[in-house]
Amino acid sequence: MATEPAADLLSLDDPFTVPTAYWHALPDGRIQCDVCPRACRLREGQRGLCFVRGRIDDQIVLASYGRSSGFCVDPVEKKPLNHFLPGSSVLSFGTAGCNLGCRFCQNWDISKSREIDTLTSAASPDALAEAAVRLGCRSVAFTYNDPVIFMEYAMDVADACRDRGIKAIAVSAGYINPEPRVEFYQHMDAANIDLKAFTDVFYEKITFSRLPVVLETLEYLRGTDVWFEITTLLIPGHNDSDEEIAQECDWLVSHLGPDVPLHFSAFHPDFKMRDVPRTPPATLSRARRIALDHGLRYVYTGNVHDPDGQTTVCPSCSAPVVVRDWYVIGSYELTDTGHCVHCGAPVPGRYDGPVGGWGSRRLPVRLQDPTPAGAGAHDRRPLAPAS
Ligand code: SF4
Repeated sequence: MATEPAADLLSLDDPFTVPTAYWHALPDGRIQCDVCPRACRLREGQRGLCFVRGRIDDQIVLASYGRSSGFCVDPVEKKPLNHFLPGSSVLSFGTAGCNLGCRFCQNWDISKSREIDTLTSAASPDALAEAAVRLGCRSVAFTYNDPVIFMEYAMDVADACRDRGIKAIAVSAGYINPEPRVEFYQHMDAANIDLKAFTDVFYEKITFSRLPVVLETLEYLRGTDVWFEITTLLIPGHNDSDEEIAQECDWLVSHLGPDVPLHFSAFHPDFKMRDVPRTPPATLSRARRIALDHGLRYVYTGNVHDPDGQTTVCPSCSAPVVVRDWYVIGSYELTDTGHCVHCGAPVPGRYDGPVGGWGSRRLPVRLQDPTPAGAGAHDRRPLAPAS
């Protein structure tokens, strides 16, 4: 695993830098980070591929605890989650860096940032949870970049939110090792997992990661209480063939069951894939038809205007119970507990009261937090490296 010399100095005196637990020392003097299958092996002062974790004082630290690239209130449907507190607003934020190398990254200015100063906003877990309450959000979402790499911060935020009745959502590629996976998802209420394609070749050549790890995460989540939905970004000519979509849907139905919601979303040319055209709406509709034909019950199109492709249909009486168009809910015919008002059948998901009315608004917010981000967080010292 190639690693980079530090672009700027890591230091535990930095209030945004905290010790971590998942690492072990190697016989050759390097220390291996065990959070994700990248297995970065670091010498003193080096950062891992995700950039926010690195080695200092003979341990692996997280250098972005309490720092964010910005905060925004979004509709939960934008995560996308269509079966989790529908219509509610979510306080979204991310940090910097990523543990994948997707050539098509749609958030590359954040995920590929090598400038820790990109993280202009600071917030302790308590301040963030308080802000979510103040803003009327039902949940917070770790998004824009993968929360796996800043799991210590994400878990503490989730705990502070839970104390106040606010849910926590992870938007992730699911590229995480088994042991941290268990700890991480104990703190989460919901997740959207990117299933970026269904071939090893795509994963290895275009994302620099491995498909089986992501499938393991999905199978793991199936056995937990975490509500999860799946997103596949369809990229013309790369992962949008009938055969590949059919294989993905076969796997989802046989391993996760027909009730897991699947979102097909549209790619736009970005980062290192600017030579590939946008995804035509017809491709999303074709993929959705294949998925429905394979037995998946809740299949949605995303990043397009397509009320048909974004409507939830009752699994029993086939009534259109939630009609959406690009995050906006037009009609809603579920009870407060998520049952069809026509026939009483349950629609899978997490429901808690009437539908929210946030609509499609996107509201950037600035959090004023005078607390040094590391202070008041769970005391992670002394260190306890995972064996
Ligand atoms: S979390 Fe970061 S440092 Fe750790 S193995 Fe993954 S990429 Fe490397």
